[in-house]
Amino acid sequence: MVFRISGPKTRDGVETIFSSDTSCSFNQMSRQATAGRLTLPSKNVTCRAWLWVFRAPNSYTGQDVAELHLPSAIPLARLVEQELIALGLEPAQPGEFTARAYLAGKIDLTEAEGINALVRAENDAQVDAALGLLAGRLTHAIGAIYKELKEIVSLVEANIDFSEEDIELISLDELRMRIDELIEQSTKVIRTAVNSDALSVLPRVFLVGLPNAGKSSLLNRLTGVDRAICSTLPGTTRDLLTAVWRAGDREVLLVDTAGLGGPAGNELNDRAADHTRKFLATADLYLIVFDLDADSAVQVDTACAWNLPGSRTIPILNKIDLADRHSADALTHAVKERFSEPIRTSALSGQGLARLTAAVFERLSQTSLTLSAQQFALNRRQRHALHRSASALESARTDLDTLVAGTTEFGIEIVASPLQEAISALAELLGKDATENVLDTIFSQFCIGK
Ligand code: GDP
Repeated sequence: MVFRISGPKTRDGVETIFSSDTSCSFNQMSRQATAGRLTLPSKNVTCRAWLWVFRAPNSYTGQDVAELHLPSAIPLARLVEQELIALGLEPAQPGEFTARAYLAGKIDLTEAEGINALVRAENDAQVDAALGLLAGRLTHAIGAIYKELKEIVSLVEANIDFSEEDIELISLDELRMRIDELIEQSTKVIRTAVNSDALSVLPRVFLVGLPNAGKSSLLNRLTGVDRAICSTLPGTTRDLLTAVWRAGDREVLLVDTAGLGGPAGNELNDRAADHTRKFLATADLYLIVFDLDADSAVQVDTACAWNLPGSRTIPILNKIDLADRHSADALTHAVKERFSEPIRTSALSGQGLARLTAAVFERLSQTSLTLSAQQFALNRRQRHALHRSASALESARTDLDTLVAGTTEFGIEIVASPLQEAISALAELLGKDATENVLDTIFSQFCIGK
């Protein structure tokens, strides 16, 4: 386990509880792993430890930072924490390390949000979006708009200052052209941006079928995730088990449903089936799993009674390795008549799984979301700030039109105020102007230790 310490008390804290094998000083330990011993004098504890030191300002937070690597043991963690608190150090708040990095000017607010997004990412699309934020792609695009806006505002203000002397630093025509350009750039970012919440919603593929048909086995085999416990006892999958199913750079969420249609009257079975039905409606695609080693008629009748939408259903005949040709043909025929051409698989041998994967991903090609290199994923705060800036730019454009048309008694100063509003919205987005409230809201979403 690792203790991260940051701030002016780092050195004292570390020197009290850690001694290096070579007796080197805090300064000498900078930027390398130093082996030594942890000693907690008041607790009579001592053990092996390693220390990394990053001296200010060349650290994540811009302050002195130390990372103490210790054997993993929760009671030991508590003792170390108590000792450090007794020395006057304080436990970090959620996101406090990143907040300090931001306050030290090491990163801007969108990059800080990128760090949180990366820590929380659950799929490749979210990782891409977070890395884009971290690489400063949004900062770069918005920074360019921000810089141009500031320049325009300073020219407009100079026009106001020199209006008595008839000196014009920017003509109304040029002003209109440059505002139009900014409106275009901002609306393009907004128009092409993806809502970052949407990235967490992968297309959902549900495995449905009678107990024992092989749903859990298929889930394990297709996703490589051994989450479901396979069993020969009917109805042992009691809850919805999910895993990300990847094919190339595409991903879907594969959901293994509890034994739908298992023996009724059993409380556990009924509850599992109820639970399943609630979620069934949220599927993008249903894979109905039929068991080639079980009674055909019962399975087909039961599956028909579920009334799943045919356009979103792919039937699967599983356990092809066990089936004799005659029964396989009979079930294929029955399924084809009531559903569509089934795909034959064996979760055991892997037979047919490549065909199944291709069919599923082909069917979902319209649903799955990936970010292109020019696209941003905007969270609610970022989207709101961008909208505010774009609509202030539109107001500036309208005010400019009235000025050109001579339908206002005001001078160019009427354009300055909405342009300032646009600047302040972008400054807020980049964190140049962030209030304590905004910062609290953002960093409270982080984990402790980040
Ligand atoms: P579920 O109730 O639909 O989730 O079914 P399981 O995945 O738990 O499988 C039930 C039993 O069938 C287990 O013993 C599996 O090992 C077995 N099984 C699943 N798929 C196949 C298959 O393709 N071939 C064979 N021979 N056995 C399978």
